[in-house]
Amino acid sequence: MEQRERCVFPTEDALEMILNFDHAGIISYVNAVAAKKLEYTDGLCGRHISDVFPNTFRAAADGFETEYEFDGAVRNLVAYRKNLTCFPVEAKIIKSGEEDETYICMANDILEKEFLSKEIEQVKQEAHQAMKVKSEFVANVTHELRTPVNGILGNVREMYGDDLDAKTVRSLKLVERCCEDMNKIINNILDFSKLEAGKFTLEPREFHFRNMMDYVKSNHINKLTEKGLGFFMTVSPQIPEYIIGDELRIVQILGNLISNAQKFTAIGKISVEAVKTARVGDKIELFFMVKDTGIGIDDADKDKLFQSFSQVDASISRKYGGTGLGLNICKQLVELMGGRIEVESEKNKGSTFSFSIWAGLCEGEESADVQQDGVERMEMPASAEEISFENIRKYGTPENLKSLENTLSKLILCVEMENWEKAEMFMETVRELVNGAPREVGRIVLRLKMAIQKENYDKITAAFEELNHLLGFKEEDA
Ligand code: ADP
Repeated sequence: MEQRERCVFPTEDALEMILNFDHAGIISYVNAVAAKKLEYTDGLCGRHISDVFPNTFRAAADGFETEYEFDGAVRNLVAYRKNLTCFPVEAKIIKSGEEDETYICMANDILEKEFLSKEIEQVKQEAHQAMKVKSEFVANVTHELRTPVNGILGNVREMYGDDLDAKTVRSLKLVERCCEDMNKIINNILDFSKLEAGKFTLEPREFHFRNMMDYVKSNHINKLTEKGLGFFMTVSPQIPEYIIGDELRIVQILGNLISNAQKFTAIGKISVEAVKTARVGDKIELFFMVKDTGIGIDDADKDKLFQSFSQVDASISRKYGGTGLGLNICKQLVELMGGRIEVESEKNKGSTFSFSIWAGLCEGEESADVQQDGVERMEMPASAEEISFENIRKYGTPENLKSLENTLSKLILCVEMENWEKAEMFMETVRELVNGAPREVGRIVLRLKMAIQKENYDKITAAFEELNHLLGFKEEDA
């Protein structure tokens, strides 16, 4: 033991047995694993190597005799424990040092290795089986959930008619929206489980690219306009009319990114761009960008975004909802399409999610721009717009006050129509617009927000009038 302690080797932590011996065959170092496996608590150093490998080494007057060739090859040997029982090892013994000859032996217990690889194989099989059971379970449960949700949805849609009063229509619309949200969650869970189990397959076919982009736009434009957000979509003329790809899944990725952009943006605009960035043979690379002017994401949180079930923090899920699956699904889909997804963002300034995918060219779609392949940039909305947008966020500037006045009048209209959900949405915009305002303004805005949450019409009117007065807006706006 003393001798072992004197020799300091970085091999002490190795997982295999390591023994050093000199030209006389005397063991000068053993690591902890070797001492344990050979069952020497003490005294292995100083012994002859033939005590450990008697079938390979014989003690001789000037050291040892052996047929072993020190050529670096791995060989099967038999190692003997202190109590003279033995076990097979896979060993490699090499010669080191010219004058002061030292031999280094590295060995693994073959039985243990076989046992471990059997265990690993078994664990793998168990995990595979568990994954299979899980995905079957998820498929069954989501199917069972989808049936009643669609039942409710169908019935609600049938209930719309001319003789319904406004309150009932509002309630039905709410039920309809809840069902649609529920369906989105169910679909996400199903996609996620299929992707995890490696059972997801893309279904590429020929489709009209611009029609698809128009469809994406039509899916979102109403919600974006209702929220008062600008929406810009630019498609590069270099993208052929028809391409081959999984249209449904591209719509899904874009839809998810645009929904997130809309969810996390209270004021400003959302822009979507699609450009062709490369062509190799009959394949083209498409690059998409979804840019918003929303709450942004901290650098530290960016890595978490694409993990499953991950939201930036718990307050986000409380305030904005969501399952944290969307971006993970997008990432997996994008990767299946041979591309990658990335995010650039600045806190309180906005985020840009971008992704690339490879699509097939259709026959006869040899676009005239073949020689122009390479990165092309689309014209972005004028930078003057960006500058005035900056001013909208700066409390007290004419742009900011104009925007506040507009938002407040939309807000009160929603209150009058008892559309509390939208009123809360505009309230959120007002809160962002008064960021940095004097404390007095902040206090009334808070009072207005609470009154809206409680749906207390009198308190809303009082706070609204007080706010208009304080901000110097016309009284009749109230
Ligand atoms: P969820 O369904 O919860 O929105 P996602 O995977 O789509 O799940 O998004 C995960 C998280 O990423 C969100 O909860 C949010 O914190 C953040 N995030 C996604 N998109 C944006 C965005 N455009 N702006 C700010 N944060 C975003």
